[in-house]
Amino acid sequence: MSDFIRQIPKVELHMHVEGSMLPARLLQLAEKNKVKLPYQTIEDVEQAYQFKDLSEFVDLFIKTTEVVQSAEDFKLVTEDYLKLCQQENIIHTEVFCDIRTYVDRGHPPEMVLEGINAAFDAQPADGISGGIIPCFIRHLGADIAFQDWQMLKHHKDKYLAIGLAAVEQGYPPSLFKDVFKEIHDAGIKTVAHAGEEGGPEYIWSALKDAHVSRIDHGVTCLDDDDLVDYLIEHHVPLTVCPQSNVKLNVCGHMSQHPLQELLKRGLNVSIHSDDPAHFGAFLTDNLLMIQEHCGVSDQQIYDMTINAVKASFADEQRKKNMQQQINDYAQNHTQITTA
Ligand SMILES: [Zn+2]
Repeated sequence: MSDFIRQIPKVELHMHVEGSMLPARLLQLAEKNKVKLPYQTIEDVEQAYQFKDLSEFVDLFIKTTEVVQSAEDFKLVTEDYLKLCQQENIIHTEVFCDIRTYVDRGHPPEMVLEGINAAFDAQPADGISGGIIPCFIRHLGADIAFQDWQMLKHHKDKYLAIGLAAVEQGYPPSLFKDVFKEIHDAGIKTVAHAGEEGGPEYIWSALKDAHVSRIDHGVTCLDDDDLVDYLIEHHVPLTVCPQSNVKLNVCGHMSQHPLQELLKRGLNVSIHSDDPAHFGAFLTDNLLMIQEHCGVSDQQIYDMTINAVKASFADEQRKKNMQQQINDYAQNHTQITTA
């Protein structure tokens, strides 16, 4: 058990808010909103969280979205997550959520945006910073993404960037080239899931067609040396989620995760939790697991934490403050070389 990992101030950049919902909140919201679930007890839900494959995971994820039906519900779910962040010493977090799931059920996009932002707004002045990154659901196609953008463009001050998430195979970012051009022209930053189950061509497409500031996952870049060179030259951050990769069978066991190879090549990697409640591992657990199974040193943990600060959408002053906070902590560990 590494106290260094537990206590270092952390930054989370790849976390889907419904994926942080703990079993007790799922049951409470289901009861409140009269949603029938196939689970009666916390143990039943915990059992469901042990999904065996992607389709069981998707089923579970849809159920967690069904119980959220108001801005107040979103605020509660986000507050639960921010409380966990506080326990983990996460000082900044940028959370993913789509609006489409809720719009299709008759809820306005404001429900999602205002509910999540209300939880951040309730933080004290020296509390956790961050915000929301609404994502397009890529397997619904470009027309739906364009409709989502028509709604989101009226709320530019309510989110940090726009992302692309969900089923990767068969839905390269190039399909969304036109909508991402409009977003880019409007001065809004973008991110995209790419190179998790899809190959390097999905990462190239995210860079060239979606103009992303960060690649979410990106682990398959190692299959293309030219891409690795490009990512290094342009300092493109990769938000890597080790436990998610294991749970969704991107790699067999944590000890087979390509993290050390990514680091050895000099890529801009940081570690995140993706769907922490569903995958049974919040950010600290992910860091502890890569230390145990991938031989990641405290210095590498520090370096990746600084990468996350720099890759974040926090303003420059906040980034400076966060780096200072992390350096103050790390300097008490004499073996760490700070940036
Ligand atoms: Zn993700």
